[in-house]
Amino acid sequence: MSARTITVVGGGPVGALLAILLARHGYQVGLYESRPDSRTTDIYQGRSINIALSDRGWTSLEKIGISDEARKQAIPMYHRAVHAVDGELTSLPYGVGDDAIWSVSRSGINEHLLDVADSEPNITTYFEHRLADIDFETATAMFRRPKGDEIVVNADYAFGADGASSKVRRLAHNLPRFSYSQTYMPQSYIELNIPANEDGSHKLETNALHIWPRKHFMLIALPNTDGTFTCTLFLNHEGRPSFESLREREDVEAFFEAYFPDAMDYLERPVDVFMEKTASPLFLVQVFPWSFNRKVALIGDAAHAIVPFYGQGMNCGFEDCAELHALIDHYDHDWDQIFPAYENARKPNGDAIAELSKRNFVEMSDLSGDSMFQLRKMIEAKFSQRFPALWTPLYSMVTFSPEVPYSEALRVGDEQNTIMEKIMAIPGIEEDWDEQYVMDRLQELAEATFGEGQ
Ligand SMILES: Cc1cc2nc3c(=O)[nH]c(=O)nc-3n(C[C@H](O)[C@H](O)[C@H](O)COP(=O)(O)OP(=O)(O)OC[C@H]3O[C@@H](n4cnc5c(N)ncnc54)[C@H](O)[C@@H]3O)c2cc1C
Repeated sequence: MSARTITVVGGGPVGALLAILLARHGYQVGLYESRPDSRTTDIYQGRSINIALSDRGWTSLEKIGISDEARKQAIPMYHRAVHAVDGELTSLPYGVGDDAIWSVSRSGINEHLLDVADSEPNITTYFEHRLADIDFETATAMFRRPKGDEIVVNADYAFGADGASSKVRRLAHNLPRFSYSQTYMPQSYIELNIPANEDGSHKLETNALHIWPRKHFMLIALPNTDGTFTCTLFLNHEGRPSFESLREREDVEAFFEAYFPDAMDYLERPVDVFMEKTASPLFLVQVFPWSFNRKVALIGDAAHAIVPFYGQGMNCGFEDCAELHALIDHYDHDWDQIFPAYENARKPNGDAIAELSKRNFVEMSDLSGDSMFQLRKMIEAKFSQRFPALWTPLYSMVTFSPEVPYSEALRVGDEQNTIMEKIMAIPGIEEDWDEQYVMDRLQELAEATFGEGQ
């Protein structure tokens, strides 16, 4: 194969990983990022923003041959530490044994991937190059530099890895038969911080994802390696309480004191930060197709912006890359086949994780509230431990089972839901949940639905 050229728009985590895998398949890659290089300029202003990476993300990184280096900077979170309003703490494991989701610095993993990209001879990285236009027939892209000069880049193919507000995707709106939907969630969010102790240790338990679930809103905290926690407050945009209703300082103070009294001992200036910051909206974007004229394609958040309640956005983007990696080999670099196979494989999974993520807000924000909900989780966990081949809880399918596509997890999860509704409707289930007959009934229903196994 003569070295073919590919333009990757967006040097975020997905764009950087994509550039690496394409270069390793022999392509000459130009990676174009609109922002300055965060490794040489403090564009994050010292802020740590972390995300949870789970087995899908790690498996995808491994498939592409990224070393374990990233894991050295990650903190395993084995359980949710649920903080009730009265300060009572409950531990809810994420899975069994060593199952964990991992808190990683978003900028840290991005910079690690950029370092790897820089070490690849086939990749040239350009910062402060903002995509302004793209020709979907030829993959020719036009970038604008900060001083206004324009650069035209010719390549055989191009990828839009330019995130949830993708310019490539917005330009595709003008193409015939392009389907698009954008949906805002009721919630918006702001980030808060818990500083480290003086000796650099964490103020709360390190190996947990801390949640203060309050039914219609919640606060979460993920640990950073420097002893701090990055916290996110998810709250309705409007209604009561909401970002819109909490305008006065005393109302904000009363809100934090009423709902997060124990967190107030740790949070850094939460009321000031709340007053100073503009809450960011949460939205989902679904589009089809993901590729155009066998020349240009979307990947990562550009193809599927989802809400963060399952902690799967980046995991899903890394899986997109792993899928492409496999298809390039499978179709021996025939992009007329790779592009349609890629979008057909990934679109149903993008849609499934979008749906699952939307639903998971209820699951997270209800964690300490609804006793029937807790009971149901206990029954499921007990059954799954007894019959692992017959029942993997939905959370485990999504988070710890990369071999199960998201679309399959959604389908099986819906069937499990139907079964559990029947179990929870058993009269006296609150008292009898630990009785053998409940397990027997569950086994009967599960076998009737799934046969010998899911
Ligand atoms: C509050 C919150 C919590 C989250 N938590 C998790 C989590 O726990 N787990 C998880 O897996 N995911 C999580 N996510 C999602 C995750 O952050 C995204 O899925 C991931 O960052 C997507 O990577 P990306 O490279 O596709 O897009 P991005 O990270 O958005 O990167 C896109 C890049 O393109 C650049 N760009 C944009 N426009 C242009 C242009 N015109 N020209 C050139 N470059 C351009 C941008 O500067 C950026 O660097 C969370 C998201 C949010 C908002």
